[in-house]
Amino acid sequence: MSNRRGRLFILSAPSGSGKTTIARRVVETTGGVGISRSYTSRPARAGERDGVDYTFISADRFRELRDAGAFLEWAEVFGDFYGTGADETGRRLAAGEDLLLVIDVQGARKVRQAGVESVGIFLMPPSYAELEQRLRGRGRDPEEAILRRLATAREEIRAFPEYDYVVVNDEVDACGDRVRAIVVAERARREAMRDTAGAVAATFAEHPATGRGGRPGA
Ligand code: 5GP
Repeated sequence: MSNRRGRLFILSAPSGSGKTTIARRVVETTGGVGISRSYTSRPARAGERDGVDYTFISADRFRELRDAGAFLEWAEVFGDFYGTGADETGRRLAAGEDLLLVIDVQGARKVRQAGVESVGIFLMPPSYAELEQRLRGRGRDPEEAILRRLATAREEIRAFPEYDYVVVNDEVDACGDRVRAIVVAERARREAMRDTAGAVAATFAEHPATGRGGRPGA
């Protein structure tokens, strides 16, 4: 890998829009992209592993870390704390890895307000009715939690104009392809290609103009 710094991608979506599935899909199909692992004070759900899905910590420990400035961003979502570790993020980006932060809209705002360069991608469910159906269909949450998530979704959906890209998650494969295309296109931006493009251009400067034109030996 070159000494290029990685790019920070923020993926936000109302809960139940399938953002974790999409993020994993992008990582599986695109080399050099990783998902940032967040810290949370919420208890692990069945099947979730500490240090894999999240780093699970107590609310007190979370506050300690937050007050010590350990988070690039943090937010309280559905009564629990969530945050992105600043050191780990910085290290991975410095190593040239592109990083996907799967975070809520409050966290995305904090990253932008901190002046950290990032590319925002907002994932939308096809409709409110579809989101409701998905939340009920996954059978994970009690009714009151579903209603709370839907109410939050109504608020969150309004944040889409704050993002650089909007993708509708109508179908997992197609949606994953679109998010992957955004990552690939962002890598080809002139600023991102500056070192490589400069190095290529330099090989041209090493050759004085021959004035002959055409292909060598032609
Ligand atoms: P869940 O508890 O369902 O895993 O996540 C709840 C919400 O918290 C989701 O919208 C998720 O994207 C968000 N979230 C997860 N990690 C972070 C984080 O590090 N920072 C912020 N701001 N939100 C997060």
